[in-house]
Amino acid sequence: MDAILHFASPASPIDYLKIPIQTLKVGSLGIHNLLGLARSKKSRIMIASTSEVYGDPTVHPQPEEYYGNVNPVGPRGVYDEAKRFQEAMTMAYHTYHKVDTRIVRIFNTYGPRMRLNDGRVLPAFIGQALRGEDLTIFGDGLQTRSFCYVDDLIEGIYRLLMSDYVLPVNIGNPAEITIKDFAEEIIKLTGTNQKIVFKPLPKDDPKQRQPDITKAREILKWEPKVSRAEGLKITYDYFKSLPKEVLYHRDHKSFESFIR
Ligand code: UDP
Repeated sequence: MDAILHFASPASPIDYLKIPIQTLKVGSLGIHNLLGLARSKKSRIMIASTSEVYGDPTVHPQPEEYYGNVNPVGPRGVYDEAKRFQEAMTMAYHTYHKVDTRIVRIFNTYGPRMRLNDGRVLPAFIGQALRGEDLTIFGDGLQTRSFCYVDDLIEGIYRLLMSDYVLPVNIGNPAEITIKDFAEEIIKLTGTNQKIVFKPLPKDDPKQRQPDITKAREILKWEPKVSRAEGLKITYDYFKSLPKEVLYHRDHKSFESFIR
């Protein structure tokens, strides 16, 4: 079976804050082009959506039926609203043009080959530990995230692509942890004894996030298999093997200079 997968978009806050207009365009004009292509080629098309469609959620954990709590004009709005528009456009092409569509809502994911400086918490913490720097926690560290190992995510995406389910499906690992506990796990894993420092919380940073994966379990017979301990070990071994030049390479301004 041939299919189009639209995964093109910056996904890290530091990236989409650097190129906000392009982020909005790839999620709106980009998907419009691709839906037109899928229609003309009679191809299946899957779009990568995100847990960010739930914004700073007031429902916990987040089921697909939750409409979300997004600030359209805040710094994260360029990503969140592009993805929400993308979902709306995809459903419209499905309903009105009968295009064979799939929507996956991807939650926080990690694994080898992430960029050390992409701004996300896992490469940030591991990079800091390996360079002997303090680990920077934004806010009080009591905000939560739920991290899914990349192999599990890929399996979930593949199963959804091959299914005949058209409405959005959450794919993520429900094992939730506070960022503070996560920092402590990384310190233990790297055996580096690094200190933790607290920095201001970026605007609209979601306070809690955990996928409700009932749908994925029922429809796709999918659930994550790799524990955080296992996944972090593989990921850490990868980062540890990087050459020193990569570890110390800095090609961006600090995260905070973008988010404020
Ligand atoms: N975070 C942090 N220190 C960092 C980078 C991120 O405390 O050096 C926090 C961030 O504020 C957020 C969480 O970790 O609460 C996850 O951030 P990330 O950018 O990885 O993903 P997202 O916010 O998009 O879930």
